Amino acid sequence: MGGGYVGLVTGACLASCGHRVTIIDPDQEKVTSINRKEPPIFEGGLTDILQKYGGKTLFASTSCESISSADLIFICVGTPQGEDGSADLTFIREAATQAGGAIRESEQFQVVVVKSTVPPGTMKDLVIPAVLSVSGKKEGEIGFAMNPEFLREGRAIYDFLHPDRIVIGTDGDEAYQALEALYESFDVPKIKTSLTAAEMIKYTSNAFLATKISFSNEIGNICKSLGLDVYEVMAAVGLDPRIGSLFLNAGAGFGGSCFPKDVLALVHMAESAGVDPLILKAVLCVNDHQPDRMIGLLQKRIGNLAGKQIAVLGLAFKDNTDDIRESRAIPVIRALFRAGATISAYDPMAMEAMSRLFPDVQYCLSAASALTGVDGALIMTEWPEFGKLKEEFSLMKTQVVIDGRHMITGPGIEGVCW
Ligand code: NAD
Repeated sequence: MGGGYVGLVTGACLASCGHRVTIIDPDQEKVTSINRKEPPIFEGGLTDILQKYGGKTLFASTSCESISSADLIFICVGTPQGEDGSADLTFIREAATQAGGAIRESEQFQVVVVKSTVPPGTMKDLVIPAVLSVSGKKEGEIGFAMNPEFLREGRAIYDFLHPDRIVIGTDGDEAYQALEALYESFDVPKIKTSLTAAEMIKYTSNAFLATKISFSNEIGNICKSLGLDVYEVMAAVGLDPRIGSLFLNAGAGFGGSCFPKDVLALVHMAESAGVDPLILKAVLCVNDHQPDRMIGLLQKRIGNLAGKQIAVLGLAFKDNTDDIRESRAIPVIRALFRAGATISAYDPMAMEAMSRLFPDVQYCLSAASALTGVDGALIMTEWPEFGKLKEEFSLMKTQVVIDGRHMITGPGIEGVCW
């Protein structure tokens, strides 16, 4: 249930592992696109899987009919940020209710598995009661599992097929065995745990990774003010196995559909439980600050931004995806417009999505075209092609570039933290 980034990738990968999969999504356009073997999202390797298994063992539908005969029902719907910062569980509630309705008449033992990121207690307090009450079944007649997903957009197929570990929180042995059998060919540690611990493991992982990024950004800000290169510093720091070298890249901060909303939801959970999450609040604060820092550095170099023409290179929240959710380019574009600048932008994949949010940006077909005649430029996404830009900067009116992703060096180019 859910044909978005997680549901579609999960479905496609399980089909490629030899299972028969139906992806259920109320979005007719997505369903039609999947059945046409054309992924509605960009994810490397996805087209090949759809071409190979689509119409054979991989199907999509807006109807919940196929649920009644499924061994496992994966709920992969969105859990967006609610108005107060907590996770909005509306889609989870709907999906659990629909799943319960669809398995009413079924006589086989089925397992309802949640892959969406949900706050600790959601399985026990929401999913299980909803499925049981609508299906009319008793505890033990259906299995329940929490199987969080750790894939990264842009590398989702690889990550799903090569996980570091598989976390399986269940309400009993039968449900655990069903998941263990499903993942039999994955030779990685399988963590058998409770439903609630599995829910917490996902939030904790995301919060820790976000913390590493904000920590690195803070160190980067300090290094820059001391005239030091944070990348040189972190390269040595990361060799300590207690620290590790990943996620120490200072820059414009984290975006995407997970880190910002999950850290905020954890802050909300902590506060509701009477705990003041000092570190997590600081993680978000540093992250919010980084785009402002980029604007500040630009102003320092070219002065008042009113009437200036600025190029924004990179709109997706990271490379290899067309996803702009919580992209750091969004606050930067807002701040530039607020300051009275006009904006030209280029991204190899995310311009269509961003044009729905900011129709007044001038979208260009190449980095060179976006840079032509501008007073300054900001690099917001780590697209490898930006690392190869050189002569293109000479097309600028004044060569002032603030690099938010440690992509380039050269005259007039300065990093946000280096
Ligand atoms: P998404 O918004 O891309 O997709 C959600 C899909 O669910 C949409 O296509 C929507 O139409 C569909 N949907 C809504 N209600 C439905 C219903 N009742 N039945 C069937 N489908 C329904 O979201 P996503 O990025 O795939 O994220 C899904 C969950 O996985 C979230 O909880 C997210 O936090 C978590 N997660 C996301 C990622 C990621 O990188 N995107 C990684 C790990 C975990």
